[in-house]
Amino acid sequence: MNPADYVNLGNTLLAATIFFGAQCACQEYADRKSKKCSVEELEALLPGECQKLGLNPDNYKIVVEDNYIVDGKCTLDDGKWKIHLNRRCLRASKLRHELYHTKADVNHLDSEGRESLGYYLFIAEPRAILYEAFGIEL
Ligand SMILES: [Zn+2]
Repeated sequence: MNPADYVNLGNTLLAATIFFGAQCACQEYADRKSKKCSVEELEALLPGECQKLGLNPDNYKIVVEDNYIVDGKCTLDDGKWKIHLNRRCLRASKLRHELYHTKADVNHLDSEGRESLGYYLFIAEPRAILYEAFGIEL
C-alpha cells in the first residue's frame, strides 16, 4: 500500500465511526427520553402511533418476546404485521422504530422477507432510529 491508501483507509474508518457513533447516540437519546411501558400501555399507544405514520392499526399486533437478542423486529403474516418487542425493551420509542420499518422498508424486502445487509445498515436502520428519536420521516 502506498501512503495515500493509508489516508483513504483512515478517512473511511473515521467516517464509519462517526456514522455508527451518531446512530448509537440517537438510539441512546431515544431510549432515555422514552420510559419503559407495560404491554397494555404500548397497546394503548399503538393506534395513535399508527395514525402518525398513516398506517391502519387493525393490521398490527404487539408480540412480547422473552428470549430475544435484539430489541425488536417486525414480521408480516397473512397481511398483518406483528411487532415483536423484547420484554427488556418495552418502550414507545421501540414501537415507533418497528412501525417505521413496516412503513418505509416493506418494499425493500426480498422474496424471503429480508432486506440486504447494506440496505439495513446504511438506510433502513438509520432512518428508523431518526424516526424513533426525533419523529423525523425521511
Ligand atoms: Zn430497526
